[in-house]
Amino acid sequence: MSIGDGPRTQAAEEVEDEHALVGAYALNAVDERERSEFEAHLAGCPLCSADVPAFREILARYAATTASAPPPDLVARAIAEAHGVRQERVRGGVLSRILRLRRR
Ligand SMILES: [Zn+2]
Repeated sequence: MSIGDGPRTQAAEEVEDEHALVGAYALNAVDERERSEFEAHLAGCPLCSADVPAFREILARYAATTASAPPPDLVARAIAEAHGVRQERVRGGVLSRILRLRRR
């Protein structure tokens, strides 16, 4: 027997889902329906009211720190790692050019 099951748990999940849109809302990554639903929630939720400007500040800082190009080997390493392949064995136009640049 479990005490947490039932309508009460479901209601708690629905509230959590409303909070969960805060990041997408701050990113303007919601559709019109989600936006109006979330803004209705936002008006009565001090947590999200505090989180929206906090998210936007973090995004602004992130954008400022990523304004310069990443080092070329970062791209090669990430792609090689994603494919589970050693960098030395990676072939292909863009990757081999990046790897050649890196060796200079
Ligand atoms: Zn909220």
